[in-house]
Amino acid sequence: MENKKRILTGDRTTGRLHLGHYVGSLQNRVKLQNDYETFILLADIQALTTHFKNPSMLKDSIYQVAIDNLSVGLDPNKVTFVQQSQIAAIAELTVFYSMFVPVNVLRHNPTVKAEAAQYGYDDLTYGFLGYPVSQAADITFCHADLVPVGEDQLPHMELTRKIVRRFNDLYGHGESILREPDALLSETPRFIGLDGGSKMGKSLGNAIYLSDSQEVIKQKINGAVTDPNRIRITDLGNPDICSVSQYHKAFNPGEYNNICDMCRSGKIGCVACKKQLGKALNDILEPVQTKRAYYEEHLDEVKEIVQTGSDKANQIGNETVRQIKEAMNIHL
Ligand code: ATP
Ligand code: MG
Repeated sequence: MENKKRILTGDRTTGRLHLGHYVGSLQNRVKLQNDYETFILLADIQALTTHFKNPSMLKDSIYQVAIDNLSVGLDPNKVTFVQQSQIAAIAELTVFYSMFVPVNVLRHNPTVKAEAAQYGYDDLTYGFLGYPVSQAADITFCHADLVPVGEDQLPHMELTRKIVRRFNDLYGHGESILREPDALLSETPRFIGLDGGSKMGKSLGNAIYLSDSQEVIKQKINGAVTDPNRIRITDLGNPDICSVSQYHKAFNPGEYNNICDMCRSGKIGCVACKKQLGKALNDILEPVQTKRAYYEEHLDEVKEIVQTGSDKANQIGNETVRQIKEAMNIHL
């Protein structure tokens, strides 16, 4: 176990997880859990960057996000679940790194800029502007090697790598105290939302959740944006600008080419196409939701998993802080 490389990844605790998480990161987490020692971060501090006025709503999300991760097949006996706010080392590392990260680098981070625009922030808080630094602390507290993420995270991964290099240059005396992690993108690094434009996101109101009922999923798919020029079944469609075709690609890959051909030649209508997608999604989500029902009924088990994992993470994190203080020569 100890000799395995490490994965650290996670989700903000701002609500339940959706299909974008599933194809962007969760599938890779499940696939790699046997090969890597895996840490799943329930990022409640990062959730506060946008939800600081309402911290109590994050409490339920911590468990919901853990349950979603467990429901898709992460094995609690193999994977370590970590509640970010319980790990003092993450806060400490954030402070140390923040001393040498230039504010302009944060200001120019394209994901931070896009999210600030999305939330309508014109006067960014210190915590929001600096959350990529905190993310570097998340990744390095356990010396993670690999981080399975969606495309929006790439600028943050680049910053983490820069922070590691800078820290090692400043304080390593020729040694690598911190490890440079790699990002792992999936085949669908940016899964689009039901609105057909932006990334599917928890905070964007354009998501199909892993825990949505069959009926809700059907309604959501019915409202999904398709080729706007296609009005009658016989009109020739363009799957390249249709969100539903992208969903078929990810969740109904065996039928994807056939459906696109039929759409282009006007042989399948949007109603039938959406119905097929609903069925494919249902087949995938049914076992996930059965597992979810189990964990919802055994919430104490989930709490225990998060507590045990956080305890383990604290031991690792405290040792990392000890190492970096020693490197900086600020220990007693
Ligand atoms: P929020 O809107 O609150 O930020 P979110 O939907 O963006 O929530 P996060 O918790 O920020 O979800 O992201 C967790 C992980 O899931 C990240 O690695 C992110 O890149 C990935 N992810 C989220 N949405 C998508 C998506 N639509 N496509 C691919 N990956 C995604
Ligand atoms: Mg996000």
